[in-house]
Amino acid sequence: MIKWDGHTHTQFCKHGSENHLREYVERAVSLGFERYTVSEHPPLPAGWVDDAGLMRELAMDRSELEAYLDCVKAVKQEYAGKLDVAIGLEMDYLYENESFTEDVLSEAADLLGGGVEDALISVDFLPGRGGMRCVDFKADDFRDNLLAYYGSMEKVTDAYYDHIEMAIRSTWRWPWRKRLGHIQLIEKFRSALPPIDEEQVRERLMRVLPLLKANGVGIDVNTAGFRKPTCGKAYVPEWFMRECVARGISLVYGSDSHRPEEVGAGWDWFEAAYREIVSENN
Ligand SMILES: [Zn+2]
Ligand SMILES: [Zn+2]
Repeated sequence: MIKWDGHTHTQFCKHGSENHLREYVERAVSLGFERYTVSEHPPLPAGWVDDAGLMRELAMDRSELEAYLDCVKAVKQEYAGKLDVAIGLEMDYLYENESFTEDVLSEAADLLGGGVEDALISVDFLPGRGGMRCVDFKADDFRDNLLAYYGSMEKVTDAYYDHIEMAIRSTWRWPWRKRLGHIQLIEKFRSALPPIDEEQVRERLMRVLPLLKANGVGIDVNTAGFRKPTCGKAYVPEWFMRECVARGISLVYGSDSHRPEEVGAGWDWFEAAYREIVSENN
């Protein structure tokens, strides 16, 4: 198994740190990683959320896409032979705006003279009170603008997994390595919100499996949830990892680092869980 961090951010992320990509990559090299995917949040459509301050924090400006790709390309060349730095993007699933996503990806392909190497698709937004709302901004924001809007955790959870399904389907024509980002992001504030029914989650996750398989989409085994005090676990349950392995759906560890010291966080948990699952299958 290749030691690969498949989900990381850079200085181009406005809600992360200002540390340069090179500092992240240095840490990846020192931890013995062999491959490292840089997957920054790409630009969002103007006015995507109705809050100009929040908009600035969510993603880079459209005009920065070229500088981001140039930066990753330069670092990739600099570390060639030491670490396989893969050029990627973490696309948001943009409900009823999928063409914007396709435009950004084709602009990136033009700028790179070829496509990205890794594309993640993440559900970070749901329709809510007053327009699109972040799933992962704050527990209070979730309660006021999503839970109150849908009326129950059961309904928000169903809406969330409906969007997960649409997100997977939206990637059907992407030729790159592609993965679904943090499939259980909706659990980020779980200890601060009413509980989500585990049976419902199990049923919804089972329904996702054939879609992943049919669309060639892998799973970002995202460990950022371990670092959130209100979550305390990975955003992918081990039983679901097992179902993926049984179906040949790829599992790629992702630290979702927003600062250099987070690179590799949770790798030991992933490696142990993955090895155990694979050995059960042999
Ligand atoms: Zn981020
Ligand atoms: Zn991310």
